[in-house]
Amino acid sequence: MMDADLHSWVASANDPASDFPLQNLPFGRFRQHGEWRIGVAIGDQVLDLHAAGLINHSDMQRLMAQPPDARRSLRQALVDGLTLGSPQQVQFQAALHAQTDVELGLPCEIGDYTDFYTSIHHATTIGKQLRPDNPLLPNYKWVPIGYHGRASSIVPSGTAFHRPHGQTKAPDQAAPTLGPSRKLDYELELGLVIGRPNPLGQPIRMENAEEHVFGVALFNDWSARDMQAWEYQPLGPFLAKNFASTLSPWVVTLEALQPFREPWQRADTDIQALNYLQAHTNSTHGAINIELEVWLQTAQMQATGYAGDRLSQSNYRDAYWTVAQLVAHHTVNGCNLRAGDLFGTGTLSGPAPEQGGSLMELSAGGKRPISLSNGETRTYLEDGDTVILRAYCEREGFRRIGFGECRGTVLPPVER
Ligand code: MN
Repeated sequence: MMDADLHSWVASANDPASDFPLQNLPFGRFRQHGEWRIGVAIGDQVLDLHAAGLINHSDMQRLMAQPPDARRSLRQALVDGLTLGSPQQVQFQAALHAQTDVELGLPCEIGDYTDFYTSIHHATTIGKQLRPDNPLLPNYKWVPIGYHGRASSIVPSGTAFHRPHGQTKAPDQAAPTLGPSRKLDYELELGLVIGRPNPLGQPIRMENAEEHVFGVALFNDWSARDMQAWEYQPLGPFLAKNFASTLSPWVVTLEALQPFREPWQRADTDIQALNYLQAHTNSTHGAINIELEVWLQTAQMQATGYAGDRLSQSNYRDAYWTVAQLVAHHTVNGCNLRAGDLFGTGTLSGPAPEQGGSLMELSAGGKRPISLSNGETRTYLEDGDTVILRAYCEREGFRRIGFGECRGTVLPPVER
């Protein structure tokens, strides 16, 4: 694990407040005029890997699909070149751009997208609202629940989108109507980006599962709750979820997250996972301590130059299923994963009521409006609202690393 005292010749990376010190080095794609290029965030800069002479292509899928030892040597080359006193400083300096001077896009072309449901706290709270007598379905503690989502509507951070239209039906209505969603919500999630592929028919075992995960980004699975309530049975989410989902630009690698691993365990009294979802390494450090935050900036706040209110905080270590378990389960039937596939973790709510990762939880299904610092209230999102997800890892004796932000703004519905 990397020395907390290691400093970079990129001065902004040594600022304790920076999300992107030498110990992080997340990957993403950027452009100025032409094609997307592969970059690594360092302080307030982005290093162009091709221009720095570290790779000879601009294909993120290809980079992510590399075997673990090749990934590790690329990371080592980045550390060596960016460390204070490096003989490569002059060569690397010519490959640096200020992040504010470039456009940051999706970190890769997204292939297949699966959204999971790994927070038992979210599943229980939502379950109570939908089925008061039977909040947690009996399969929850056995199966990492997920559904196949849609990749075409995954957009980069900073994208604004129009409030979606759809079918909704209030309980007192005889028939549904088509109109703009009145219960638009966000979901605080992490996006797990798949690197190494597996061939069809060859399941990935728990012991090797993390070799297939390139890294972790922030993910907002915007959800139209009124559309969802009407459409979700019997086959699960559909148009309530595929009008926009926002992914942050930087993928934090599992190597960078190494110091923040924690044991994963179930209480002795709880159901124990089936054998194919267990491994020694998973028990000793399957969980990851990632602090997560949701911020809201309303149009009114934006107009007054106020950055927004923090709505909630939770931690990824409270998830019921680990990264390795999601990979092992997804492939146990022989399903093939490809470089650039994306797993959403599902809404990451914590155990306390104020740790809900969606407004549906924080406002008790819209029954209890939340108060904002400027006197406004919210049950669900209003037009002009901007939602910002943030995350960071901290541990005594290690350099703090961050994920940057995942930002999106709700525009009024399109007239139809
Ligand atoms: Mn979701």
